[in-house]
Amino acid sequence: MSRFIGLIGYPVKHSISPYFQQAALDYYQLDIRYQAWETLPGELGETVSRLRHPQNLGANVTVPYKESVLPLLDEIDELASLIGAVNTIVKRDDSLLGFNTDAHGFIQALHERANFEPEGKQAIILGAGGAARAVSFALVQKKAGSLTIINRTLERAEALANSVRSYQASIGLETKTVVLPWPTVTTPVTFEHCHLVVNCTTIGMKHSPEEGKSPLRLEAIPSSALVYDLIYNPSLTPLLQLAQRAGANILGGLPMLVYQGAASFELWTYRKAPVDIMLNKADEVLERC
Ligand code: NAP
Repeated sequence: MSRFIGLIGYPVKHSISPYFQQAALDYYQLDIRYQAWETLPGELGETVSRLRHPQNLGANVTVPYKESVLPLLDEIDELASLIGAVNTIVKRDDSLLGFNTDAHGFIQALHERANFEPEGKQAIILGAGGAARAVSFALVQKKAGSLTIINRTLERAEALANSVRSYQASIGLETKTVVLPWPTVTTPVTFEHCHLVVNCTTIGMKHSPEEGKSPLRLEAIPSSALVYDLIYNPSLTPLLQLAQRAGANILGGLPMLVYQGAASFELWTYRKAPVDIMLNKADEVLERC
């Protein structure tokens, strides 16, 4: 009997995950199909219940359900609970377990692709949604020196900063965490001493209302920083183009996407993910998108 893994989100038709996950499953000649399960708002409960059918092994969860899926699962792993978002569901002994592999993917890409170690570094995060939450906890766990969270909706940034601070207090880590209002993105002084800027907003994403735009202006981008855009389509976002012009180092979102997917693959299959095969397939598919 063929078995299935799904991608739950809306919309999912532009996702490249089905291609590189299938390439990894095929590498091991597993009789498993990875499918896009586009799920309308209001249908999430039904889609998650279907995961309990015997032929289904689990799923990835993407926008806009990474947070709303939590109450529908039987158990949530500790990191996913902290982050408050699940991007991977694994069925084990008829129970649905929720994990978050975005934090791992983010750090792995930073390490492998940019040779950047967060310990003691000053980081600025643009955004306060699910991705920003994963990135913030990942940076705190890696002992970043400071975290500045800038978001259009200030209350959302404050809520994230508060959860990061209580986590730090519980484990005795000391990342200085501050929040700034969105208009500060236009001020070069905001970015003066930072080592890492991470775009966790959707600004610049293809097929979005903000396609073709950058969250930062050229003048605000420090040449000495690494500018990391979580957006993977386009691979060279407007922000990364400006960062290149400013002389900064850059990193796009594709390696993170593949590394988080590789971690999910290992949770479903208990096999080592063929990361190079996944990266090559992701690159190839993205060129056609
Ligand atoms: P989300 O929860 O919907 O958060 C979106 C964020 O973007 C919020 O902070 C939102 O601010 C901000 N935003 C949207 N439009 C804006 C605008 N016009 N001006 C200023 N801020 C704006 O989405 P998410 O799941 O965190 O994903 C964010 C991005 O990360 C997406 O582009 C996604 O593709 C990418 N991502 C990449 C990976 C990867 O593996 N490479 C993994 C996860 C996510 P408000 O709070 O004010 O609404």
